[in-house]
Amino acid sequence: MENAVDIFAPRFQSADAAREHLEALHWPEGPFCPHCGSLNATRLPAQRGRKTKAHPEGVIRKGVVQCNDCRKQYTVTVGTVFESSKVALNKWLLANHLLCASKKGMSGHQMARMLGVTYKTAWFMMHRIREAMKDTHEGPMGGHGVTVEADETYVGGKEMNKHASKRGKNMQGGKGKQAVVALVERDGHVRSFHVAKVTGEALRSVLVTNVDRGSWLMTDDHSGYKSVGKEFTGHGIVKHSLGEYVRATYFHTNTIENFFSIFKRGIIGVYHHVSEAHLSRYTTEFDFRYNTRKLNDFERSEEALMGSRGKRLIAQNARNPGAANTGALSGATPAFPSPGAGAG
Ligand SMILES: [Zn+2]
Repeated sequence: MENAVDIFAPRFQSADAAREHLEALHWPEGPFCPHCGSLNATRLPAQRGRKTKAHPEGVIRKGVVQCNDCRKQYTVTVGTVFESSKVALNKWLLANHLLCASKKGMSGHQMARMLGVTYKTAWFMMHRIREAMKDTHEGPMGGHGVTVEADETYVGGKEMNKHASKRGKNMQGGKGKQAVVALVERDGHVRSFHVAKVTGEALRSVLVTNVDRGSWLMTDDHSGYKSVGKEFTGHGIVKHSLGEYVRATYFHTNTIENFFSIFKRGIIGVYHHVSEAHLSRYTTEFDFRYNTRKLNDFERSEEALMGSRGKRLIAQNARNPGAANTGALSGATPAFPSPGAGAG
């Protein structure tokens, strides 16, 4: 199979091979100083770190580079979501590959078993990989003559609060209904958002900040789309609530429904209960796999590895301004709350 990736490949087995793999990806022109941006660097021989209780002999540090301009030392993981982790880099690369290659995601327990780490560690690693998966192309979706489908779905929660077309037949009410609104360009990218409540205001906010107004908007007949629909070049409405599933060549929301179908199978079947606090991390994961669906598993994994740089510091800065570059990633850091609050 062309698409098959050998999980026994050296980069998944040895920390050295993993580091060389990441270096080749992130430093195509050689070491790049994350502190000052200089390419003028000297690779240092492996060195023994400070002696500690846990490591009386001192840990051997490999891959250390000395910047010839700012004189600081760094390795390829500085400034990435893998920075300062105690988990070997080859396990990070394997975790990344597994999450990228699993259509519906992978549970934290399964990941823990496959990596030989604790559930708590797997949970932290997976959330960091989701950071790497974040789309940083912030430009508007759609454009002149382009159709953007918008739709909403619910994860768990009270059936009575849902739009008529989204209610299950034999579902009981429950607590913690969570709504996700997604936008998808036909044959293009998806962006999904966790919203507190599906109101006209919430839908408008998501739509006007993400979709070019020259686009054609295609939605179901949720009343929340009516007013904002007038702000776009055109607005097609598919009336699900009347049982009228229009499947004409143009007036449909099949694209977004396909995305939601994968998303829901993953959230329900793999992750089971996703807490409100973390739902947006999971939407990031499903968006990423959808948006890279034309890549093979290897290419998709490489894409996430490329995205591993820069994200970590942003997450940390958001919660703890001025504290970038200080956190050890092995324990609970401000950006990543405890596993008890999460799921899967
Ligand atoms: Zn430097």
